[in-house]
Amino acid sequence: MISDGKNSVYQALKTAAAMTSLSAFKNFTNSLPVTEQLMPVLFIGHGSPMNGIEDTEFSQTWTKMASEIPVPKAVLVVSAHWFTKGTRITAMDFPQTIHDFGGFPKELFEVQYPAPGNPLLAKETAALLHSAHVELDHDWGLDHGTWTVVRHMYPEADIPVLQLSIDYTKGPQYHYDLAKELYALRKKGVLIIGSGNMVHNLRMVAWDRLNDAEYGYDWATQINDKFKQLIGNNDHKPLIYYSSLGPEAMLAIPTPEHYLPLMYSLGLKGSKDNISFFNDKAVGGSLTMTSVKIG
Ligand code: ZN
Repeated sequence: MISDGKNSVYQALKTAAAMTSLSAFKNFTNSLPVTEQLMPVLFIGHGSPMNGIEDTEFSQTWTKMASEIPVPKAVLVVSAHWFTKGTRITAMDFPQTIHDFGGFPKELFEVQYPAPGNPLLAKETAALLHSAHVELDHDWGLDHGTWTVVRHMYPEADIPVLQLSIDYTKGPQYHYDLAKELYALRKKGVLIIGSGNMVHNLRMVAWDRLNDAEYGYDWATQINDKFKQLIGNNDHKPLIYYSSLGPEAMLAIPTPEHYLPLMYSLGLKGSKDNISFFNDKAVGGSLTMTSVKIG
C-alpha cells in the first residue's frame, strides 16, 4: 500500500503526466488552426506516370486547379498506389520520392519532389480516424499517384504533403465511412485528394492509342457517364456497391485500388458542397481521367 507521502508524490506525478499528455494532445490538434474557408476535396484521375513530366491537357488542368482553390496548409493524398494491410499515414519530416513503376524513361526516374511532411499533422490525422488503428509510417514517402499530380499543382514543393494508405482488407463502404472522420481537416486548410482512376483496366488498354485523349471503349464511356451521373446526383450507394451497376462496372474496376480513392473523396462531401468535373476524357480505351472537384 502507498503511504500518504508517497501517495501525494504519486498523485503529483500522475497529474504531471496527465498535463503532459494533455498539452501534447493540444499541440498536435492545434498544429493547424481552424480556418474560415472549407477546403474543397478532389478526386484526381492520375493516369500514366508520364503526366508527371509531360505538359499534357491533364497536367495543365492540375496546375490551373491549384490556382483556383485556396492555397492549402497541407495536402493529404489517398493514392491508389499505397495499398496496405491496415491503415498507415506518412509521418516523416521529409518523405522520399518513390518511383514505383517500370519501363519508363530515365527522366521520369530522376524526378524528385522534395515537399516536406508534417509529423504533427500525421498524428492529428491518425487521432481523428477512430474507426482505424493508424500506424505512423516512416518508410513510405510520396508514390507516383501523389507526386506526378502534386508537382504540377505546387511546383515549389513548399507545402507539406502526406499520404494515407488504403487498407486492402476492407471494402468500399468502410473507406467511404472512414473518410468522413477526416472532415475536420477541411476546416484546417488541408487539401484532401483521392488519386486513382474511375475506369482503370490496364489489361484492356489499347496501348497504341494511349496518348489519344478522346478514345474510350463504349463500355468505358457508358460506365464513366453512369459514375458521373450518380456523383452529380449525390447517389453514392450504387457507387459503393458498384457490382450492382452491371458488367461494365466490373470491366472498369477489375481490381479496386484505383477506384477506392474515389470513396474517400465522396465520403468527404458536405451537404452544401458543389460538384464539378474536370479532365473528363478517356485514354487508351479502358482508362478515364475523369476527375471531381467537391466544394
Ligand atoms: Zn495509378
